[in-house]
Amino acid sequence: MKKRHFGTLCSHEQKIRQKTVRPHVLPLYQTSSFEFEDIQEGIATFQGKNEQHFYSRYGNPTIEAVAEKIAVLETYQSDIEATGVLVSSGMAAIATLLTTILQSGDKILTQGNLYGGTTELLYKVIGRMGIGIELMDLSDETALEECLKRDKTIKVIYFETPANPSLACVDIQKVAAIGKAKGVFTVLDNTFCTPYLQQPLLLGADFVVHSTTKYLNGHGTATGGVVVGTDKEMMRGVWQTMKLFGTNASPFDAWLTSNGMKTLELRMHRHSSNALALATFLAEHEKIESVNYPGLATHPDHLIAQKQMRLFGGMLSFEVKGGLETGVRLLNNIELCTLAPTLGDTDTLILHPASMSHVNVPRDIRMKNGITDGLIRLSVGIENEEDLIADLAQALDKI
Ligand SMILES: *Cc1c(COP(=O)(O)O)cnc(C)c1O
Repeated sequence: MKKRHFGTLCSHEQKIRQKTVRPHVLPLYQTSSFEFEDIQEGIATFQGKNEQHFYSRYGNPTIEAVAEKIAVLETYQSDIEATGVLVSSGMAAIATLLTTILQSGDKILTQGNLYGGTTELLYKVIGRMGIGIELMDLSDETALEECLKRDKTIKVIYFETPANPSLACVDIQKVAAIGKAKGVFTVLDNTFCTPYLQQPLLLGADFVVHSTTKYLNGHGTATGGVVVGTDKEMMRGVWQTMKLFGTNASPFDAWLTSNGMKTLELRMHRHSSNALALATFLAEHEKIESVNYPGLATHPDHLIAQKQMRLFGGMLSFEVKGGLETGVRLLNNIELCTLAPTLGDTDTLILHPASMSHVNVPRDIRMKNGITDGLIRLSVGIENEEDLIADLAQALDKI
């Protein structure tokens, strides 16, 4: 008979017999640490002599499987080898990468029409670390080349295409080539596209970041981010920053993201076809001033989008005639679309950037980049297309 006490039995794990366990679906390793077989294994692990998992901030099988899968998808149909580091959010991905590759005295060159939080991060945190920030129109290639020639402190070109929320596009291949020629890193936030629509690493970019909170998870159930890069040593640095800042992902959020990604291709097709249908409907509507959707032939960057995107995605923005006031009335009359400050979910989400996602971006930067007071952003979901058009049509009738 065993002599252990009740409390002792309760507080220890009931070990599973590994040989009988062959999970079909990625298991959730919801554990903060991993035990050692013996002291020798513990010593070797701490000395970095084996790849043993031991503490989830350093690494966890669920988290790593998701990071690896995104790296595989980002390099799909190429011989490029990439490494992914999964972190706690899109903002964590951006901050972890930028603090790895930049130091005091360096400068980051970027655009004014970024995700609102990214602009805020640059000005409120990164700028305070003695890192310069310069905004320019990155689609002006001559100006970009001259800028890099003139200013040797520029270390990183950071951009989004299509950009949030104006949907302006930048030619990734051209920017990456200019960066490469000058020894400047190019970083692209690929959140709006996912690797199914756009593969920046294949076009020469050095790093891709994502908010996996959005399309990669796709169901609005988890917050997460990822950095993917082709330079193994730099990615080792990103991993080190992640581990030391503690920007690591949570295993549960990683696991939810793993489930969500299984339908990524199907979802991106439906998001894109619904968005095109809505953009076409809005563009023809008498109460609409303008529509920004890269899939419309009238969009100024349509040809660039066509060159580098497989489909045109689920994001669009538009302005109703009458500006902010009629815009607010429209939002109040929407019935089907959800008023929520995220994107990339299965339901259609509607948002007013000037008062919500971009409220902390200075007004002059917003205005210069088309984020006007009357602009409305739609993250088009995977509902039935007719129901979506009907909802917008009835709301427009009422304004
Ligand atoms: C949401 C978003 C982010 C930030 O991601 P979080 O997961 O919310 O931290 C960064 N870039 C883009 C384009 C986004 O849409």
